[in-house]
Amino acid sequence: MTRLTFFIMSILLVLKINAAALAWDLGSVGTFAFEKVAGPLYVMHGPRGEPSKANHGFMNNPGIIVSKNGIILVDPGSTYGVGKKVVEEIAKVSKLPILAVFNTHIHGDHWLGNQAVKEAFPDVKLYGHAAMIEQANGENGASWVSLMEKLTDGLSKGTKIVAPTLEAKKNAVIEIDGQHFKIHHNPAESGKAHTNTDIMVEHVESKTLFMGDNCFVARMGRFDGSSEMHGNIEALTLAESLGLDHYVPGHGKSGTAKQVVAPFKAYLELMQKEVSKGFAAEKQDYEIRKAIIEKFASYKHWEGFQSNFGKHISKMYVEVEEREF
Ligand SMILES: [Zn+2]
Ligand SMILES: [Zn+2]
Repeated sequence: MTRLTFFIMSILLVLKINAAALAWDLGSVGTFAFEKVAGPLYVMHGPRGEPSKANHGFMNNPGIIVSKNGIILVDPGSTYGVGKKVVEEIAKVSKLPILAVFNTHIHGDHWLGNQAVKEAFPDVKLYGHAAMIEQANGENGASWVSLMEKLTDGLSKGTKIVAPTLEAKKNAVIEIDGQHFKIHHNPAESGKAHTNTDIMVEHVESKTLFMGDNCFVARMGRFDGSSEMHGNIEALTLAESLGLDHYVPGHGKSGTAKQVVAPFKAYLELMQKEVSKGFAAEKQDYEIRKAIIEKFASYKHWEGFQSNFGKHISKMYVEVEEREF
């Protein structure tokens, strides 16, 4: 090795170490930065656990489209502090301003970071579904602020509600800086899927679908009172039918429809089928659990399987029962 190559290699090594040090460091949870998925699309894939002190409440997948004159951001994270980190990490990809934010649904891990974006870019446009805007400004928004504070052991203190002000209407195409964003609200008659506030945002130019929590990868999620598993299956069917190139789930790795949408849809469909069978045989939900758990062996490694599986059966049971009458 000549002295020159040694010198160049040393410099490269230092640069590499600096780049790693520059990523957002959450200690034992990991380091996080926006990764280029394709073209103008970058995603910072959050950790898959639940909000905690260790992860500062960060767990979702903030995604950006880098346009000519600015950035369009989907779901800036779970607290004021996390939102600030998201803004910092975006600045490492591009120095352009953040022009607009889409919030996919009411769950606080996706939108409480709005506050930091609005603070850094006061002219930013904030979009959400009408029901999301209403709930964010009401009791639901306030309870997410206190839940985050509890789960992060007070780390999220100072987080304030900055709700979207602009309505993202079902099937609307919103143009921002020459980029087109098509809004897909839940297709089920009930208007429900993961919640009754969901939008999936299709970026037309890059053929990307930001799915919010209508889809998870290698992870289970809660189905709360505003959700509908049957409606979630319909939303996933719609997502697949769009035939896009890139799918960004609310939690877990981005990829193709086959990698991202198909596994969660298969899980929900199997749940639907098995619980319906059990219901027809007049079994109770706890009896069904025992009878079907083996059929779900391939999902056991999904984050949160143990804590969610029984709840999913109970939720599906209620839905199947309601549909009977
Ligand atoms: Zn959610
Ligand atoms: Zn979420």
